[in-house]
Amino acid sequence: MTMTQASTSAPANAQPAVQMHREEGTSRPCSICKWQTPDPTDPIRGQCTVNRHANGGVWKRWIRDALNTTCGRHEEGKLSFRDHV
Ligand code: SF4
Repeated sequence: MTMTQASTSAPANAQPAVQMHREEGTSRPCSICKWQTPDPTDPIRGQCTVNRHANGGVWKRWIRDALNTTCGRHEEGKLSFRDHV
């Protein structure tokens, strides 16, 4: 298998079933997910940093309602320093 994906497009593993989506009252919200970086001025908003380009760069996605948004890659906890690289 060859990887021909351009680094500016969405990661190849971003499948619809696991993608970020609205889920009212979810028990797995972005707000408690380790991949979320909360907006410093508005805790309802944030950015998801779970996706990586083939070259390792973070592909950020805006989260408009961190309490009612989730995805298949939700993980509770804090991001360790190593996960940032
Ligand atoms: S990985 Fe999923 S649940 Fe976690 S912040 Fe990103 S979109 Fe939200």
